[in-house]
Amino acid sequence: MPKTKTAYFCQNCGAQYSKWVGQCSSCKQWNTVVEELVQKEEKQSWKTTSNTAKKVSKPLRVNEISTDKELRLNTFDLEFNRVLGGGLVPGALVLLGGEPGVGKSTLLLQIALKLPYRTLYVSGEESQKQIKMRADRIHPDSENCYILTETKTQNIFRQIEATEPDIVVIDSIQTLHSDYIESAAGSISQIRECTAELMKFAKETNTPVILIGHITKDGSIAGPKILEHMVDTVLQFEGDRNYVYRILRSLKNRFGSTAELGIYEMQGAGLREVNNPSEILISKNEEKLSGTAIASTIEGMRPLMIEIQALVSTAVYGTPQRSTTGYNAKRLNMLLAVLEKRAGFKLGAKDVFLNITGGISVDDPAIDLAVIAAILSSNEDIPIEKGVCFAAEVGLAGEIRPVQRVDQRILEAEKLGFTSIYVSKNNKISLKNTKIAVHKAARIEDVVGDLFG
Ligand SMILES: [Zn+2]
Repeated sequence: MPKTKTAYFCQNCGAQYSKWVGQCSSCKQWNTVVEELVQKEEKQSWKTTSNTAKKVSKPLRVNEISTDKELRLNTFDLEFNRVLGGGLVPGALVLLGGEPGVGKSTLLLQIALKLPYRTLYVSGEESQKQIKMRADRIHPDSENCYILTETKTQNIFRQIEATEPDIVVIDSIQTLHSDYIESAAGSISQIRECTAELMKFAKETNTPVILIGHITKDGSIAGPKILEHMVDTVLQFEGDRNYVYRILRSLKNRFGSTAELGIYEMQGAGLREVNNPSEILISKNEEKLSGTAIASTIEGMRPLMIEIQALVSTAVYGTPQRSTTGYNAKRLNMLLAVLEKRAGFKLGAKDVFLNITGGISVDDPAIDLAVIAAILSSNEDIPIEKGVCFAAEVGLAGEIRPVQRVDQRILEAEKLGFTSIYVSKNNKISLKNTKIAVHKAARIEDVVGDLFG
């Protein structure tokens, strides 16, 4: 009989304790420490054999090291490539996190089906038949994608040795278990062990491995913060079930920037890459409506035109309501205070609702002026002229402040057919011969006079 051993793990951050404690001393969470069965044996999880080790590293003189751009595998998905920083790096361990049902499996399955490389898609969530049915809707005649239904890592490695895939996808890390650990699948010690085995495989064979990880409602990757430390790249797939758009972000990337953003549209047959997001984020309403304004914002490296909708109405109860979707509520309160003081609007007795269309959320302060314009437009019930957009921050004194990369914002607005844009008087613009009229304003009063005067 092997001797069983138990240990205590924090389900939030993965810290290990020899006895139970009420509060995790590492992440300060209460009641997150649970006992797990652990059994240690000599590990033989992923064995390097001569035919699987494609690369053995040895020391090189500095001047011998090649500085050529490292080879990346094209995923044939522009959005996915962009967020990864130009494709998959050989040997990289990538975690794709997201809430259950957001479409993580759909995204990776559709990428796997289109790849010209041999791909092994391992699912512990669905049967081969279920996956086949989904695959038929996306890409029925895929030749390079192998589907394996398996949850035991030792069996997965056996199949990997037989198939020799170029890319491995694991759906999901929470369903895997290793023979060397006794506790249940999804527990901290199993997740840690299975991830470590897969990482060893990825590094020793130079094969990229993508893990799917479910995250909880509060946004952390379920239990294992440890996972985020172990992998090279952490991607997050976000989106409201009520909206058709999905956003792919990078939270950590050893091989590229984390500023990039990918946008997809959920359709019946899978996810469509949205390579020109501005077109979808602006409603195609032809009639002029009060309470909407367009901002030229920048997410990652890409300019985006987004639509802001505001609704201002008389407060029915004593305290006026403030509600925002996709925008910081504190920032809204600040802008309302500025309006009250500088533009003389009695907003204290009004309810204000603010919404950024498309279900995306924006941090860019350059949308301030558009937020103010939308609120005033709703309050006055005067629509803003079609073709007008905004790119400026608003300060506490009501001054209109310059924003970064204003040229890029102006160009995007012009490209999408806007005829005029409001920016700060202090913004340096190096563009010449633009067709779009660039209005330079110093104070919000100037813009208000122009729009609703
Ligand atoms: Zn903890």
